[in-house]
Amino acid sequence: MSKNIILFGATGSIGSSVRRILDKTNGEFCLKGITCNQNIDSLIEISNQYNCHDLGVSNKDISNNKKEILTKKNTIYGIENFESFINDDIDIYILAISGLSGASLALKIAETGKTLAIANKECIISLGKILVNKCNEFNTSIFPLDSEHNAIHQLLYKNHRSIKDITLTASGGPFLDLDLDRFDSITPEQAIKHPKWKMGNKISIDSSNMMNKSLELIEAKNLFHLRSDQVNAIVHPQSIIHGIINFHDNSSYAFLSQPNMEVPISSLFFPNKDYRSNDHDLDLTKLNSLDFFEIDNKRFPAFTLGKYIMQKDGIAPHLFNYINDKLVKLFLEGVIKYTKIVNFNERIIELYFKSHQNINEPNIEDLNESSIWVDENIKTIINK
Ligand code: NDP
Ligand code: MG
Repeated sequence: MSKNIILFGATGSIGSSVRRILDKTNGEFCLKGITCNQNIDSLIEISNQYNCHDLGVSNKDISNNKKEILTKKNTIYGIENFESFINDDIDIYILAISGLSGASLALKIAETGKTLAIANKECIISLGKILVNKCNEFNTSIFPLDSEHNAIHQLLYKNHRSIKDITLTASGGPFLDLDLDRFDSITPEQAIKHPKWKMGNKISIDSSNMMNKSLELIEAKNLFHLRSDQVNAIVHPQSIIHGIINFHDNSSYAFLSQPNMEVPISSLFFPNKDYRSNDHDLDLTKLNSLDFFEIDNKRFPAFTLGKYIMQKDGIAPHLFNYINDKLVKLFLEGVIKYTKIVNFNERIIELYFKSHQNINEPNIEDLNESSIWVDENIKTIINK
């Protein structure tokens, strides 16, 4: 019998990689539902191709001339209604929406006892234990799709021995060798152009200043129940090794592949690795070298800040993540300079903790209250 899937964020970069892998399966999976924010043309095209009936459009205000087609399908509007696609017949929920707007949806999926295949790191970081504990409580398996975490997941699946720590890799992004005095004038177009990965805008910006790697440390800590001192990252410009698990005897296992999201995504659909791909062949003899070095704190202050936030824990990871989301938008709109994305984040967090205690295990209300504080104060802080 085929397995049923809902793909939240079907029109994005991860969404399209998922569809490419689905095309290689032989009817074992059936795409029942798909969603977008506002990219209705693409949503309709996908629904026709995969014959799916349940369509979700997050942006209620989007005007469109496709109403007639949409009413023939089961189309719902507003992300708060996406959870109506959750039902007992669905086996796998793929969360590939960007940003934090899918947080409530993630918590609903966590109650299904099925599989939550998650690319959306923002939710894992902000919800932290709330999400992981809920999945445990309801026996829902979390399947990480983020490449580094998928690498660690695959390595851990085969190796149950207790590990010492893990290492994630970072490509270093487009500004690994750029003169430091040119960072202030970096434009959104430059920051979005990633040398190794093709991704959505938000994650591309995050990758360019190492914010993505900071977020990924926290993501890994949450997903694999590790302490802060068990999670680290290094620069590896070739992006061939994605994750490493290190054992107490100082031996390590590494996960290698070409940098393409189809590789981690295929592990969801082909858990026994029987996916025969003609793409992304890894021929090590064609690589001149594999390089590794430490992340330069001066070039990438986001990484230092991220490590501090991970250690501080409590409500700090959510603040860090939420503020970053806001600041990346402001950078893309041309309101703030590139270097201010990290600079303002640090300043806003510092001010927050001047008037608030950290909360060890924040609940949803705590997270929401801290977000409201940021919304109310961000403009004054950045205009000072
Ligand atoms: P994209 O921007 O390419 O796609 C985002 C998807 O989410 C689109 O379908 C978009 O719809 C939808 N969406 C955006 N905003 C909303 C909203 N408010 N409500 C509902 N749906 C919304 O992003 P990516 O595919 O690159 O990334 C998705 C997630 O996966 C992110 O969390 C990212 O960090 C993570 N990730 C991505 C990787 C990659 O290689 N791309 C790698 C590892 C993790 P629409 O098309 O209509 O705008
Ligand atoms: Mg990643």
